[in-house]
Amino acid sequence: MHRIGLMGGTFDPIHYGHLVTAEEIRDKFNLEKVIFVPSGHPPHKIERHVSDQEHRYLMTFLATAPNPFFEVSRMEIDRQGPTYTIDTIKQFKAEYGDEYEFYFITGADAIFEILTWKDAEQLLGLCEFIAATRPGFNNNDIRAQLEHITSRYGKEVYSVEVPSLAISSTDIRQRIREGRPIKYLLPESVEYYIKKCNLYIK
Ligand code: ATP
Ligand code: MG
Repeated sequence: MHRIGLMGGTFDPIHYGHLVTAEEIRDKFNLEKVIFVPSGHPPHKIERHVSDQEHRYLMTFLATAPNPFFEVSRMEIDRQGPTYTIDTIKQFKAEYGDEYEFYFITGADAIFEILTWKDAEQLLGLCEFIAATRPGFNNNDIRAQLEHITSRYGKEVYSVEVPSLAISSTDIRQRIREGRPIKYLLPESVEYYIKKCNLYIK
């Protein structure tokens, strides 16, 4: 079986927290590659302005370009209407066929939301899920949530410790608005892209 990691996110902007998580899990789970999937119209993020999807796609492309095991997919941004993880996983499975197993990589916060996602029960049956530790989330709470998912749906979700980086896109956006530094929180290529396109200044 070939194993492929999928890393979904808004990536507004992508930062080292995303990249170190994907790389650590790629190595630990022997994944052939990790495909980053920038979201199209995230149904749960309509409360705030999300940057244009082409900006988010290009930033993700720039950030992942130096890693030969990383790819970026336009699947969600090219889809019309709201994008749901279940549709994405179904589409990847259909495109790659039976020889491929998919591992969906999420941070600790997403593992608390997963049961609210569209067709959660069916979704859990379609691929493996890996929850990465993320600063600000208690490991006992994470373990309790994973046990809850296992007892309710009979599905084991993997939990992995990754080198912890207390970085979030929300914080980076706020730093830019306030004129504070973002250097060393994300790749320089992305930093320059943000400056060049005047992203997040208001
Ligand atoms: P925002 O603050 O806008 O929500 P974010 O930093 O949480 O942005 P997302 O695009 O929402 O980034 O996250 C995509 C995925 O990456 C999610 O599964 C999230 O949990 C995970 N992730 C984000 N930052 C980290 C981090 N520092 N460590 C581990 N996982 C992370
Ligand atoms: Mg987030």
